[in-house]
Amino acid sequence: MAKKIAIINQKGGVGKTTTAINLGAYLAKSGKRVLILDLDPQGNTTSGLGFLHEEIKGCVYNVLIDGAPIHRVKKETKQKGLHLAPASINLAAAEVELVPQLAREHKLKTALLEADSDYDFILIDNPPSLGLLTVNGLVAADAVLIPVQAEYYALEGLGQLLSTVKRVRSSLNPTLDLLGVLVTMYDKRTILSREVEGELKKHFGERVFDTVVPRSIRLAEAPSHGKTINDYDMFSKGAVAYKNLAKEVIKRCQD
Ligand code: ADP
Ligand code: MG
Repeated sequence: MAKKIAIINQKGGVGKTTTAINLGAYLAKSGKRVLILDLDPQGNTTSGLGFLHEEIKGCVYNVLIDGAPIHRVKKETKQKGLHLAPASINLAAAEVELVPQLAREHKLKTALLEADSDYDFILIDNPPSLGLLTVNGLVAADAVLIPVQAEYYALEGLGQLLSTVKRVRSSLNPTLDLLGVLVTMYDKRTILSREVEGELKKHFGERVFDTVVPRSIRLAEAPSHGKTINDYDMFSKGAVAYKNLAKEVIKRCQD
């Protein structure tokens, strides 16, 4: 059975996609079979792993709306053991087309049943909203990973996010867990970064990952080369952070 992790935060630009790609890469490098499912119509995970949107024939839209099996749309990446279920801009229409459908919140969960035994981890990269696509991500997942940018306003919106998780838990997915909160774009020189980390620890305690992802230009450059941070600059501090995060995630999933 795959451990299914939804990477969520309705804020854009907090590091969801960067985390999906690089956590996925290091889980795969440590021998795990990993699928990253790109549930964001912007398709940044898809392009960040080196796939051109024009090249994508079937995507997660076809999975959700046409019932296409995951193995028909999935792509192998340059990283051994790392597969991608790609997104294209078509996926934006799914948000609307799902509305009148029966069991509309369960489409992704149902689709993933078929892929469950092929993977150890399925990482779901969610769009920056709490709409029906994200709800599908939350219903399909065993646990959520919340990246939080170490910036002013970082905590704003977290209440709304947590109440969405709670709502999904009480109605659609009672076993949905909080895997952890990840501090991203951390700058150790600033008091603000340390304050945000402190606030998160006060609120989430040991659910905050020990690993903190530093602000690193190399992490921002890698996707424009279609590369994971391991392939782009394996000794950079961002690479080290995501490698450590993968270890922590494996450990938390065993406990
Ligand atoms: P989201 O998926 O939450 O919108 P992204 O992962 O796409 O966020 O990150 C937003 C932008 O910030 C991207 O340009 C990305 O390359 C960059 N970025 C992400 N994490 C870091 C980091 N730790 N240091 C520097 N830049 C980062
Ligand atoms: Mg993203």
